[in-house]
Amino acid sequence: LLNLEFSFTLDPKQIQNRKSTLWRYREAIPIIDDANIVSLDEGHTPLLALRFHEHLVHIKQDYLFPTNSFKDRGATVLISKAKELGITSVVEDSSGNAGSAIATYAALAGIGCRIFVPENTSAEKTVLIQSAGARLEKIPGTREDTAAAALRAAQSTYYASHTWNPYFFHGTKTFAYEIAEQMGWQSPDVLILPAGNGTLVIGSYIGFSEMVRLGIIERIPKIIVIQTEAVAPLYRTFHDGSSEIDPVISQPTIAEGIAIAQPVRGKEILRIVRQTEGTVLTVSEDEIRQALTSMSNLGFMIEPTSAAAIAGIELYTASSDRQEKIVSLFTGHGLKTTILHRL
Ligand SMILES: *Cc1c(COP(=O)(O)O)cnc(C)c1O
Repeated sequence: LLNLEFSFTLDPKQIQNRKSTLWRYREAIPIIDDANIVSLDEGHTPLLALRFHEHLVHIKQDYLFPTNSFKDRGATVLISKAKELGITSVVEDSSGNAGSAIATYAALAGIGCRIFVPENTSAEKTVLIQSAGARLEKIPGTREDTAAAALRAAQSTYYASHTWNPYFFHGTKTFAYEIAEQMGWQSPDVLILPAGNGTLVIGSYIGFSEMVRLGIIERIPKIIVIQTEAVAPLYRTFHDGSSEIDPVISQPTIAEGIAIAQPVRGKEILRIVRQTEGTVLTVSEDEIRQALTSMSNLGFMIEPTSAAAIAGIELYTASSDRQEKIVSLFTGHGLKTTILHRL
């Protein structure tokens, strides 16, 4: 696994009048030449306040991205870097949303793209990948079989992976910059984030750490990770204290976007949770469904994976009497997963 280190300075005062996109944090994004930026003016999503058990929770509307999930944060940066490196074709594997995002930005950059997905991926997600002009490779078996197929293809083609490629995380970190700016350059106390491969958890940590280092904010929020009971390797490992990620057998779940039995960066995720004094919680399929329904009733059409985080907010706020500034997000739009909503 590779991580990226580079230094930069960023002055919040100079950002104010910039365009309302995630590229307003330009100095923090490791692309050398502006001419290589592949962008749909994405990001800087609204931060809405919703009430859960007498707690006001701020929710970033990341289901409003061009391909309807926060994965566009990583894709715009990673594909810009691929363009900068002169790459002409890429491969990626995904349960759906990362594939849609990479396929869309690759198309925009004129870069050839092959996306590997598990055979049972929802039709709405595969349609998006194909309509962006990417070649779709449906792989029988588990999510891990799909990852193995992509890794083989990556021996000869650039791997635009949201789990392995460090540039992706320097896109997802903009989630942290946006929150800090939208809260008046303050940190929240708590972040409640769903995690499968942890691109949002690791990205948030990188973003908040950088802002602390730059003296823009004072501390990194506590990170609470939410998994589905059906596939909870991080939960198991965190609570039994083992140093290697416990292997788990995946049970069926409507939260397909976090059904990751072997997260590549699992140890890194748990180090972050421990360091920020957070924890890992699980939610049941019933709780996910209830959260999905309660959000739909408020007018928020999110996908079931996204509802897992909302069920996590329900759980956390029900047992907390602390006055904390809590931030979470809608990770993905429900129009891509209408079949799941009816199951
Ligand atoms: C990818 C995804 C997640 C989980 O993100 P990780 O980076 O895998 O932890 C959650 N919700 C949605 C909608 C996603 O697409």
